[in-house]
Formats: sequence, structure tokens, C-alpha cells
Amino acid sequence: MRLYDTLDRELKELRPLDGTTYRFYCCGPTVYGPAHIGNFRTFVLQDVFRRTLETSGTRTFHVRNITDVDDKTIRDSQAAGKSLKDFTGFWTEKFHADCEALGMLPPHVEPGAVDHIPQQIAMIATLVEKGNAYASEDGSVYFNIGSYPAYGKLSRLDTRELELGKTQNERANSDEYEKDSLSDFVLWKGRKPEDGENYWASPWGEGRPGWHLECSAMIQEYLGADFDLHGGGEDLMFPHHENEIAQSKCACGGHFAAHWFHSTHLLVDGGKMSKSKGNFYTLDELKAKGFTAMELRYVLIGAHYRKQLNFTLDSLHGAREAMAKLAKGQRNLAAKVPADVVLSSVDFGPFQAAWEALTDDLNTAGCLGGLFTGLRESVKLEGEDAAKALAAFNRILRALGLTLPEEEPEAEVPAEIRALAEERWAARTAKDWAKADAMRQQLTGLGWNMKDGKESYELSPVS
Ligand code: AMP
Ligand code: ZN
Repeated sequence: MRLYDTLDRELKELRPLDGTTYRFYCCGPTVYGPAHIGNFRTFVLQDVFRRTLETSGTRTFHVRNITDVDDKTIRDSQAAGKSLKDFTGFWTEKFHADCEALGMLPPHVEPGAVDHIPQQIAMIATLVEKGNAYASEDGSVYFNIGSYPAYGKLSRLDTRELELGKTQNERANSDEYEKDSLSDFVLWKGRKPEDGENYWASPWGEGRPGWHLECSAMIQEYLGADFDLHGGGEDLMFPHHENEIAQSKCACGGHFAAHWFHSTHLLVDGGKMSKSKGNFYTLDELKAKGFTAMELRYVLIGAHYRKQLNFTLDSLHGAREAMAKLAKGQRNLAAKVPADVVLSSVDFGPFQAAWEALTDDLNTAGCLGGLFTGLRESVKLEGEDAAKALAAFNRILRALGLTLPEEEPEAEVPAEIRALAEERWAARTAKDWAKADAMRQQLTGLGWNMKDGKESYELSPVS
């Protein structure tokens, strides 16, 4: 499989460093509310990435953290009148439920920051000892970015330096992103009154770890100084991933991630998703509008991960139709498979192009296109050939993590059409044939066929 590496800026063949298992890390959610569909674009693409590797026969080891202590989790747990543990526990469970509905494989390890305080303190101590970090008067510890000359390679700071202005002596103590300033960043945050009961003892006084540090500490614990790949949304590249690289390389030596995988942000209605614009969606909100998690998954993988994806509610209708078509093709193919078939060989057959798209820089959009083309080509297949094609189709679906609807979905009938149909059915039952005929024509004119049965009727769109 080939994938674009954000650091080296080229497509690279993926081979496990240890020769057997592809070991990778993804920055996980901050659990202070439900994850939104943008977060899920990133997580679902990482899931397809993993499934594709596994489908191609490579074992994987997937680590994704849970950020369960930071400025936002503390602030909102207090507002909710809950302990940090109860508050983040609740939102972690919600995240897991959404992930399951979206067909995502759980990571092999999912460490939380609060459970790894000693590892984080140990890493800070190493950085202080090596001269990369310093304690300040407010009880916080900062990473000195001047001590790591390669700082900024991933996000090309060298070309952006003029824009940012190099302000070496500035410090950032907030967990929020400091998008346009270059500064020493916080590793340990000295205890403040607003932290409430959320602090731990350390050699530098009471406090809590900074957000950037947890990923470096988890990686050291579960993947070591060298591992295969690191992923996240494009917003994490600077400063979060730059900071991770600086911390880990200085504390542990090693090369850190051999490959960087960043996906583009999801746009909604052509712009940024925001609560004030009313275009901020969670899975539950889309379910309340009548859509399924799988329809969302289909939309989220509908564009290449390096291309902008613009989400609209309309795209969910499109996903419903597309999945119904795929399901129909799958049923037609299955109907031609003999009951006692034993496959003598396995290949992707008419779905070769779909598979190649997926393994060539995770082109999910190309892969979906290839599924439709493959189904069209499969129409002529019979017997074992049909069985092989069906197996290939299902294999690619598993790589995409898509589950298709089992039954032909009933077309959504608008309320006014349903009302007319009811009125016509009543006329027919009353043997008012003239009215029943006129109303049938009226419905056809509105785009709906009404088929009368003995006990009831069926409506279907005029094709
Ligand atoms: P957070 O919970 O904010 O730490 O984010 C979790 C993941 O979602 C990170 O990998 C982010 O880069 C990613 N993310 C946040 N917003 C979006 C978005 N609009 N589109 C795609 N990914 C996003
Ligand atoms: Zn991270």
C-alpha cells in the first residue's frame, strides 16, 4: 500500500518497521462533549486505513488516546457539577457508542491521560535533565523550542517564519491551539485555583500535564521511540504534532513516526462548522433527522482524504441512494452464486480497480466508483466467477467498513402524498371509482405510482 507522507511530502510504500506488524498512533478525542462529524471524518478515515492494511494481509497495532484532562474538560466538568472522572467517563462512553455505530474497529490500546501521569512526569524529568525544558516561577515547566533546532519541519515553519515572527521568549500555557505564534510550550501546568481538585504532585510542585505531552508519553509507553505512522486531522500538524516530535525526539532519541498521515478538515455548507451558524452536527443530530450512521460513514469516505469534503444534508440522501444501488448489485450477484460453490482462488476480478484505488493513497472516492463499475461488469458473470466477484466485492466493503442495507429501502413518501393516497384508498373502499381513478392520475402527475393490493396499497416513485 502507498500513502502520502506529510513530512517527506511524497507517496511512500508502507512496510512495517519490525517486518510483521504495522504499529501506528492517532491522536484521539478530547472528551468534554459529543464528537462532531468533522472529528469522525478523521477517525473513520483512520479506520479505513487500518482495515485496508489488514485486508492486504498486514497485521496492525493501533493506539489512540483519550484526552481526559485539559482546560476544557476541567472547565466543563465543573460547570456540570461532576468530578472530572465521571464527566469524561460519560463522554468517553458516548464516543465509543458513536464509533461502534459508525462501524469503526476499536483501537488495540486506548490509553487515557489521567491514567498515565507518572509516565508524563518521567518524560518531563528527562527533558529537564537533558536541558530541553525549564521550570518557571509559576510552578510550570516549559519546553525550550530553541533547544531543538529541527523544530517546525513537519509544518514547514522555515517558510512560515516571517509570518509567525520568531518570538523565542514567549510562552504558551494554554491547551488551546496557538495557531499563529511560535513559543515555548507548557509541559507541566502549575496548579491554579480554577483547577479545583484536578492536580497531581510532581518534582515541580502540584499541577497537571500539558496537552501536547500526553501523546508523547503514551507513544513512548506503547510504541517506543520508533514506530510506523502517526495520524490526525490537518489542524494538529502545528503546533501539536511539532511539539510531540520535539518532546519525543529530545526525550527518547529515535526517529519517532516513520510516516505522517494527515486528513483534510471537513467543511459544512462550504464553511467551518460552528454552533452559531447552526451547521454543527453530531451523529445523534443526524439520526434525529432520519439518517443512519452508515449513511454518514458513506459520506465521510466519499472524498479523498487529502481533498476538501463539503458536507451537506443532501449528501446523506445521495449516500442512501448509492448504498441502495450497491446493495441491489450485491443481491443480484448473490442470486447467481451456486449453493455449493468452493472458490479455487481469490482475486479481485472486476473489482481490481476498486482495490487498487484504495491501496494507492487511500483513494476511498475512487474505490467507491470502482465498486459501481465492478458491479456493472459482474452482470454477465455466472457460477464460480459470480461467486469470486461477490467475495471480492464483500472484501472491499469490509475494508471500507461499510454495511449495506439488507432490504430494499422503502422510498420516503412525503406527508402530502401519503394523505392523498389515504384519501384515494378511502374512495376506492367506498367504491367511488371515478374519484379513485382521478386521484390515481393526480398522484402519477405528482411523481408517485399507487399500486392497489387486497388489504392495502404500495407507493413507489414513477421511474
Ligand atoms: P479533538 O477532539 O478536538 O482533539 O479532535 C479529534 C480529531 O478530530 C483530531 O484528529 C482533529 O484533527 C480532528 N478534527 C477536528 N475538527 C475536524 C474537522 N472539521 N474535520 C476533520 N477532522 C477534524
Ligand atoms: Zn497527539
